[in-house]
Amino acid sequence: MKLKTLLVLSLVSLVGGAVSPVAAADAPREVVITANDAMQFSLKEITAAPGEKITVKFSNIGKLPKTAMGHNWVLVKPMSAAELNSFGMACMKAAPEYIPADRSAVIAHTKILGGGESDTITFTAPATAGEYPYLCSFPGHFAMMKGKLTVK
Ligand code: ZN
Repeated sequence: MKLKTLLVLSLVSLVGGAVSPVAAADAPREVVITANDAMQFSLKEITAAPGEKITVKFSNIGKLPKTAMGHNWVLVKPMSAAELNSFGMACMKAAPEYIPADRSAVIAHTKILGGGESDTITFTAPATAGEYPYLCSFPGHFAMMKGKLTVK
């Protein structure tokens, strides 16, 4: 009888320990992404639930100034590789923030950051499941600096 009670108690504590604390419904989930002088994002894949609020804490951990090695984080609507290429080309002509005047494809973006700078943005993940590319739109970077947000 005592053993049985002990077992039940252990089970309860096991289950209790496995459940992670539930964040307040309105608190955005924090995603930390860094970029460096080697043109690398620290994170190439993010998964989100439809309509989830996400805060991206983006930092350029490099040492170079933003005129030489600026980085941003730009999330766009689902598009083919060719369309993404065209988007990247349009960004190149849009100094100094490298976001085209036509923002219809842009879901969220940070500022262009130089080494040691950071920017935090909060956005709502799209309600439609799919793969949403992200990139750094600084000239010449998007071929190397890209990833995807998967909404499912
Ligand atoms: Zn970059």
